[in-house]
Amino acid sequence: MEIISFEKAQETVLKSSFRMTTEKVSFTDSLYRVLAEDIASDMDMPPFNKATVDGFACRRCDLGRVLDLAGTIAAGSHSREEISENICFRIMTGASVPAGADMVFMVEDSHINPDGKVSYTGAFSKDNISKRGEDIKKGDTVLKQGKLISPQDIAVMASVGHTSVIVSAMPKVTVISSGDELVEPSEKPGISKIRNSNAYQLMAQLKRAGAMGEYLGIAGDNESVTYDILTHALSVSDIVLITGGVSMGDFDFVPSVMERAGVKILFSRVNVQPGKPTTFGVHPKAIVFGLPGNPVSSFLQFELLVRPVICEMMGCQFVPVTFSLPMKDSFTRRTTDRMAWIPVVISKDGRVSPVEYHGSAHISALASADGIIMLPEGKKTIEKGEVVSVRQI
Ligand code: AMP
Ligand code: MG
Repeated sequence: MEIISFEKAQETVLKSSFRMTTEKVSFTDSLYRVLAEDIASDMDMPPFNKATVDGFACRRCDLGRVLDLAGTIAAGSHSREEISENICFRIMTGASVPAGADMVFMVEDSHINPDGKVSYTGAFSKDNISKRGEDIKKGDTVLKQGKLISPQDIAVMASVGHTSVIVSAMPKVTVISSGDELVEPSEKPGISKIRNSNAYQLMAQLKRAGAMGEYLGIAGDNESVTYDILTHALSVSDIVLITGGVSMGDFDFVPSVMERAGVKILFSRVNVQPGKPTTFGVHPKAIVFGLPGNPVSSFLQFELLVRPVICEMMGCQFVPVTFSLPMKDSFTRRTTDRMAWIPVVISKDGRVSPVEYHGSAHISALASADGIIMLPEGKKTIEKGEVVSVRQI
């Protein structure tokens, strides 16, 4: 199968995705879910003319006079009495401003005379009233479908009383490791063995991406075990991730097992570094990624190809966080035939340097990186001071 460009791979993956169904959850359980409805306000906000400071409510035209104190209005209460000439009410932040008052002057700008009357001592005062409906009008859309729900959105839902919310179902994603060299992290690896880091890295990446991950274990380099686990995975998943076994080695039979399990392979080589052997296929019920075994490659191809499709399936466009910053020193790479993604650190003064990086198995280098930068095919050198787009990882 021919090698395809990274852009083509990205397009193929997004085109092969399908939309998740929706479900209703409590708004308190909706953090990082994708909103599947528009939410409108059931009331004006603020719902009444609200004092924004602690002070005295009165008529602006009476500011120069000595005012009678008619009472106190605490937050949560209101006055039935209207403000009339030469009258003020002591009022607390958040309380309802009485009818007839067009301003609230601050406690700091007041003097209480011995007879209990109140004078304004300031030079200029703002109204200090937040007007009814000035933030939101009843019926206004406050949150739009497709939004990734943040803590601030939960505050909005709370304020409009939207206590159960329709969100996209989370894709179920199964994770399979392959490789006879792998042992689980709690074990001490014997001679020529290493610990399985990819599966746990992927499970964490899935959690961050808002998907529901399930780890199915190590398939070894055993064709029939891999087939059995994959067949099970296909019956219970929206997305299957297998790491390792996709390169050109004698025991790299993941692509052939995928085909035998009914997966139609759409690409198996991408012109990107790291992650060239990334393999992708479709099945009637699920999409399947064969990710490279090297942990850095697996991490990056998840971020670049899998994470956006998880968002897409939930009806939300994935927009990576990027920063435009200058390079600290120039950087030159040896070959330019592939698009490259390079882990970088950002120094305190905001300059970018590649991390010291020995290749795609160097997990600790990736752990120290703040982000990644991309060099397109054909670009060999980034000059010192050149502004690059750092994608947060
Ligand atoms: P493969 O893609 O199977 O050829 O593996 C490429 C490299 O990644 C090899 O050095 C493997 O030992 C390593 N590798 C494969 N799977 C994992 C894993 N789950 N965790 C850590 N390293 C792995
Ligand atoms: Mg292997």
